[in-house]
Amino acid sequence: MPAPRYAVFGQPIAHSLSPRIHAMFGAQLGIAIDYRAIEAGREEFSARLEAFARDGGCGANVTLPLKRDALALCAAVSDHALRCGSVNTLIRDGAAWRGDSTDGAGLLIDLDLRHGFEATGCGRNWRCLLLGAGGAARAVAFALADPGVLEALVIANRTHERARELAAAIGAANVEAVDWRALGDAGAFDIVLHATSAGHGDASLSLPRSIITDRSLCYDLSYGEAALPFLRWAKAAGAGYLADGLGMLVEQAAESFFIWHGRAPDTARVFDALRRERPLAIVGA
Ligand code: NAP
Repeated sequence: MPAPRYAVFGQPIAHSLSPRIHAMFGAQLGIAIDYRAIEAGREEFSARLEAFARDGGCGANVTLPLKRDALALCAAVSDHALRCGSVNTLIRDGAAWRGDSTDGAGLLIDLDLRHGFEATGCGRNWRCLLLGAGGAARAVAFALADPGVLEALVIANRTHERARELAAAIGAANVEAVDWRALGDAGAFDIVLHATSAGHGDASLSLPRSIITDRSLCYDLSYGEAALPFLRWAKAAGAGYLADGLGMLVEQAAESFFIWHGRAPDTARVFDALRRERPLAIVGA
């Protein structure tokens, strides 16, 4: 019998590590997995997802720029995905799709496991700056805004209105939106999360050095080349700790894997193998 089919949809998608990660999880747990990358922009996504379902597709991940579109295509979504307005995991349920979002959990688990977030207990006293208000930023903002996770969450986005809407949708006393152009007056942050897609193109970000200190963790949600512009800036500005989104990628994949297969893979082994192949080399700073 052919293995059940899974896929990741997005544009661009050729660079995606998700097929490898899910193959490694499957190999660990003895689960045969057919997981592919399918290129789809916003125009083609709905038709390609339906074609995938007709061909036996029973689960999918969704990435840039499709997370809001995925939400609209679901017959049902988890409370968390509904609150975030973002879906990155699709589950075939009869003749319809059910949606969930594992990005927020993936980030928090990576921060806990690899960046001392909970181990030192210091996360609860951290001021966090979140740059971006797209699908990934929304998912992590709701997770970070849970009571007791952070002291303060400040959101800044190129289109300020979207940051304001996100902060208002969260509606917590310790969450606020700040105009990107006013970040110079916002003080320093313990953690700066870069969650824009600017690193995938040629655009450069304009950020004041005053947002970080030599103790700040600067974390880019993307990985590979796309993470380098922000991390180079952070290193040159004197940030004490740098991280890319490879750990988050593996952890959010493991959460999706659990939703589909009911088994929890060993993420450390997969992360270590991928990190060995692509060390976080911040050069030229
Ligand atoms: P998205 O929904 O398309 O949102 C894009 C965001 O980037 C928006 O906030 C947008 O601002 C901003 N932006 C785009 N170009 C910009 C520029 N030139 N200057 C400043 N801001 C700019 O994308 P997404 O799904 O949230 O993904 C965002 C990033 O997170 C991507 O790099 C993606 O690879 C990464 N990611 C990583 C993981 C992981 O597991 N590691 C998971 C999910 C996403 P406007 O609102 O003004 O358009």
